[in-house]
Amino acid sequence: MPSWTCEQCGAQFPESAAPPASCPVCEDERQYVNWKGQTWLTREQLTQQHRLVCRDDLGLPGIGIEPRFAIGQRALLVREADGCVMWDCVPMVTGEAVDYVRSLGGLKAIAVSHPHFYGAVADWSEAFGGVPVYLHGDDRAFVTRPHPAIVPWSGDSHRISDDVLLLRTGGHFAGATILHWRAGTNGQGALLTGDIAMVAMDRRSLSFMYSYPNYIPLNATAVRRIANVVAPLAFDRIYGAWWGRNVDGDAKAVFDRSVRRYVAAIAG
Ligand SMILES: [Zn+2]
Ligand SMILES: [Zn+2]
Repeated sequence: MPSWTCEQCGAQFPESAAPPASCPVCEDERQYVNWKGQTWLTREQLTQQHRLVCRDDLGLPGIGIEPRFAIGQRALLVREADGCVMWDCVPMVTGEAVDYVRSLGGLKAIAVSHPHFYGAVADWSEAFGGVPVYLHGDDRAFVTRPHPAIVPWSGDSHRISDDVLLLRTGGHFAGATILHWRAGTNGQGALLTGDIAMVAMDRRSLSFMYSYPNYIPLNATAVRRIANVVAPLAFDRIYGAWWGRNVDGDAKAVFDRSVRRYVAAIAG
């Protein structure tokens, strides 16, 4: 039986003879259903029509998809001595991309910022012997393909290693998560935010939205909560949600300035 992927958002669904009736990620007010109506690709169609590209993004190995698919997800790989942590995910797996991750030391865990980047986490886990997939449990309603490798963690933080810490900020999603990599940026620290804190196009500021495509801002309370989670962390770079959408240097000050600008902008 085929496995189905939503063409609009890249969410993967369990194998079934007929495609699912709808996609809860796209039906949610933070996303939107394809203007042509809900459409699906089988795993085979997806891998015939697209390929994964593996390349560096500001010093971190990354995996993206070409031609562009869904919301243009790209994964990053945080390398540690005992294997990589994949941060965020792409909607499919290829043998070449698996070989690329093997060349970097293999995969020991997958962690995802929020449901828009769940993609093919189950396939990636299986490609590496069932490594754990850390998804915040508060967003379990958006897990479109349940899988035994998924670890629905709870609370406000989950440590993967001495240097890799997941922190729940909330905001864009109830379980929205960022990753703090203490050893990143040559020991100055790095923050991997997905679009929980969105690197703006100037790459010198951030924004914080409940929905990006539907232009629904977060309120000041939610943004201050994100700021409070980030306040104790040391970091000099921020890696955003897409290729090149990163803050290269002085990122702590960029973050603080962006929070002040945002809260001032939405104040009555
Ligand atoms: Zn969808
Ligand atoms: Zn999102």
